[in-house]
Amino acid sequence: MSARHPSPLSRRPAGRRPPPSLVLASLALLVAFPSVAGATEKSPRFCVSHQVDYADAIGIGDDFFTDNSNKTGIGALVNVFEEADPGDLLGGFYASDGFDGGTAGCTPFVSGITGPLDVVVYASAYVRGNFATVFDDPDSLDIHAEGFLVDPDDWADGATVPITTTIQPHWNILAAAEWALAQVDLDYGFYQIPFYTYGCYVLDPDTDERRGNCAKSDGVYIDADPPDTGNYSFRRKYIIAHEAGHYVHQIANGAAGAATDYSAPLVRCFNDWEDETKDPYAEPMAADPHLASEGDHGNHEMNTREYQSAAVGEGFAHYFAALAFNEIGQDCWFEYYNPLNPDWQLDRVLTDGRTLDCAGSATAPLAYLENMRYGPVEDRGTELDWLRFFWSLGQQPGVDHSLLLSIWDAAEPDGWAPADGAPADRPYTRLRNAAAGAGIGSVWDSLAAYHGVDH
Ligand SMILES: [Zn+2]
Repeated sequence: MSARHPSPLSRRPAGRRPPPSLVLASLALLVAFPSVAGATEKSPRFCVSHQVDYADAIGIGDDFFTDNSNKTGIGALVNVFEEADPGDLLGGFYASDGFDGGTAGCTPFVSGITGPLDVVVYASAYVRGNFATVFDDPDSLDIHAEGFLVDPDDWADGATVPITTTIQPHWNILAAAEWALAQVDLDYGFYQIPFYTYGCYVLDPDTDERRGNCAKSDGVYIDADPPDTGNYSFRRKYIIAHEAGHYVHQIANGAAGAATDYSAPLVRCFNDWEDETKDPYAEPMAADPHLASEGDHGNHEMNTREYQSAAVGEGFAHYFAALAFNEIGQDCWFEYYNPLNPDWQLDRVLTDGRTLDCAGSATAPLAYLENMRYGPVEDRGTELDWLRFFWSLGQQPGVDHSLLLSIWDAAEPDGWAPADGAPADRPYTRLRNAAAGAGIGSVWDSLAAYHGVDH
């Protein structure tokens, strides 16, 4: 069957408050089922799981989502219709029954079922007070969904009926988002994260081919079309959570966003080590074709020298993803998306692979920026140093993710100087002062020096 879109939920979540219609829908849909005289009534419940296909479920490093076994549909939206009367919505539920236990991802028991049902799972979830929803694109705002025909003859009264979604980009996205919302502390605000299976920018104006991933003011864009590199964005849990992190940060400072500049000249970093005879200033790295319409520099990688405004925003988003898939208090790993071989060791040997040590506990050097051999450090940073800094800071007593969100907000990143501004207006100064205002100035200072982000 094809999926239906109930009108109360085919709306754009916007802002940090729940749209009244969505809240009302979640209550109003909990209606009593009509009983049918003479038919045997049954009371099943529906437990959702997602088949997934991640390229970065690598089996080493990360603590969660380390393989492509089915993932629990934490808080997934389930609507139940009578097959005989498809227009009649019998009930709408968030499958939020104990996501940390054996009954994970289940609706409540639904009483009074007498005939075959269409059970529709929407790519929308309510987890720990926050929402994630996967739309096809920002214009149509159709929620992705999948329908299942279930016959009460197939199960006993009181049965738990498994509903398993098939492999699709939107279920990859939703499963990663569900898990991120379950893992990452977000009690600073009420978050709704709209995702779109839609590229971030137009790569080819003639064909309207869209590519890339980003968080914009209206949601998270995840490229769901197979790109020519084979580096499918929707197959990377880390990218999905990273972009969700950007969106959360945006909401955390009242949707004001952050001033960023990704155009710092590349200087002898990342993958231009091979030729020492090049003048690093005269020959910056070639432009990244994937960024052609939004900027002409490729200095937006884990270990490229960037303006601090870019490095800290990206490092903070990396940290969000690291938190989602790694156990706090332990080591931290993930597989970086880039198929090139970055030089994590800074030994000018490009064979370090894609597995990234995000805690920095097992890989030298820390303070990557400061250990580069060329180029400025003032108002510069690397995403890698910031990721490790946040991971270290987040382990400290009294420091949780919500506190970091409040520091981000207090630093007013929308108003800081994105590139080589006056020292008082630079991102580092703003963040450091906000941390001091939050009472963690001394631990901030010591870790910032240790990881070399204090520039
Ligand atoms: Zn990013």
